[in-house]
Order: sequence, then structure tokens, then C-alpha cells
Amino acid sequence: MNIHEYQAKELLAKFGVPVPAGFSAMTVDEAVEASSKLPGPLYVVKAQIHAGGRGKGKFKELGPDAKGGVRLAKTADEVRAHATDMLGNTLVTIQTGEAGKQVNRLYVTDGVDIAKEFYLALLVNRATGRVSMVASTEGGMDIETVAHDTPERIHSIDIDTATGFMPHHGRAVAAALELTGDLAKQAASVASKLYDAFLGTDAEQIEINPLAVTDDGKLVVLDAKVGFDGNAMFRHKDLMDLRDTTEEDTMELEASKYDLAYIKLDGDIGCMVNGAGLAMATMDIIKLNGMFPAN
Ligand code: GDP
Ligand code: MG
Repeated sequence: MNIHEYQAKELLAKFGVPVPAGFSAMTVDEAVEASSKLPGPLYVVKAQIHAGGRGKGKFKELGPDAKGGVRLAKTADEVRAHATDMLGNTLVTIQTGEAGKQVNRLYVTDGVDIAKEFYLALLVNRATGRVSMVASTEGGMDIETVAHDTPERIHSIDIDTATGFMPHHGRAVAAALELTGDLAKQAASVASKLYDAFLGTDAEQIEINPLAVTDDGKLVVLDAKVGFDGNAMFRHKDLMDLRDTTEEDTMELEASKYDLAYIKLDGDIGCMVNGAGLAMATMDIIKLNGMFPAN
């Protein structure tokens, strides 16, 4: 189960992770009001959809020269103009597919002056059975491109859940980000809190891109993508409230009403199977042979 950036940041803040102040907004007026509650002089107006790449995305209804789904504003009038542009329109990013996603909600945050952008993610490493922290100095951009062009700039640090997060893990993350002194301490602290959040919520993925250093030497989370393990959600009734069904596939949503595990596929070969194991093995075989499974 995935959640919006604004929800992810509110959740991470509860674990002590530093995030900029912000308010979500469903209307243009709410967006302007949100900015009035922030200190300024810089605001960021951010489209809330369950997909990344919003900054470089394009709105279908606006011209090709229009800005994307993450915009800086210096005045209430600029916030109003950006909110008017975005709300109700369809944002197409590299993660949405061609159909794009309708923007129904914005997040208006306190804008920071960025000195450097990093990448930091936590995920379950199935090969080692541990939690992997993936850290890179190449933040702010598409991590797949970094992995392809400069794989040596991506570092993976494994944490054994039996022993938990240790100070040396924090130092390893700081070293991977090439930070020293106070910033290294901040990086270790952020990493430790993210680990607590990961375990505490039964997350499947926490991706921070960018983790930014501000001009005044503070490490802050500027973008967060959080997904939880659906099988563990019965332990987190409060997290279930964060579910935004408008972001989900209508067929999957209908199936979930009847407690059916239905995953929409868009491949070429339909599979009729009984049992999860046989279904998985069948899909693996199809993919191994270069085609894609369908419902
Ligand atoms: P994404 O495009 O969906 O990944 O959205 P992000 O939240 O990562 O924003 C995209 C980019 O906008 C970031 O990589 C930053 O360069 C920029 N950005 C986001 N927040 C701020 C901010 O507070 N100040 C400045 N100067 N830039 C920001
Ligand atoms: Mg991002």
C-alpha cells in the first residue's frame, strides 16, 4: 500500500526525521491559505499523486512549456497561479504511463535553499534477508539512470534486523554520502530514525530523493515515497486510514472489497492457475521467456 508524499512526511516527522513544514490542500484557496501559515520567503507547491518524477512531469491540459508538478513560488499570487494550473489537471511523469494521473491534492511546503541533493532509500533485500540502506551522492535525479551510468556511486548497507541499527551503520551511510563533521552526524541520525520508521510501520520501501543539505548546513527530507507491506496492514489500523482509493486501480479496488487478492496485469499471456505458488511460478516462467503475464 502506497501513500502520498504529505502523508509520508507527516509519518516520518513522528519518528523525528527532519522535514520542511507544510500543509495539504484540495482547493486553490486552501493552497494560498497554507502558504500564509508558512514562514516564506520561498514556498513549494507540489502535486500529490502516487508517482515520482513530478518535477519533470508535464500537464496534459497545459502547453509543453508549462512547468511541472513541483513548483517554487515567492508570493501568495504565485502559489495561487501554480495551484490553479495543477488542480484537476492530468500530470504525466515517467512513472505514471501515458495516461497520467489527475491531481486532486497539493502539498504546499516551506521552500529551502538547497546546497546538495542526496539519495537514501530503505528496502527489504530479499537476497540477504536484511534491510538494505541504499545511499548515493547523486540525489535529485532518476536513480535508475545513476544505477545504469555510474553504478559505483550507489552504495548498499545491509542491516541485520536481529541486531538492529548500529552506530557503524550510521557512519557507513555518512561515508557513502561523503559527509564529514556535523553533517555526518546528522546523516547517521536521519538513517537511524528512518530505520525505526521502516520497522515500526512494516514498510516495504522508504525512498528519500532528495535528502538535501540546505545552505545553512541542515540535512532535510525534501521528497519521500513510502510503501507498506499489505500483509502487515492488519497490525496498523491507523495507517489504513492513509489509503487513497482514488489512486488505485478500479478493478483491484473492487476485488479488495471481497477480500480477493487481484493484481491488474497488462501482459500478453493470460494465466489461469490455482494457488499463489503456482501463479508466481507461472508468471516467472513467462517472464523468463521474454513475455509478460496477463489476467
Ligand atoms: P519528484 O520530481 O516527484 O521527485 O519531486 P521532488 O519532491 O523530489 O522535487 C523535485 C525537485 O524539486 C527536487 O529534486 C528539488 O531539486 C526541487 N525542490 C523540491 N523542494 C524544493 C525546495 O524546498 N527548494 C528548492 N530550491 N527546490 C526544491
Ligand atoms: Mg523526488
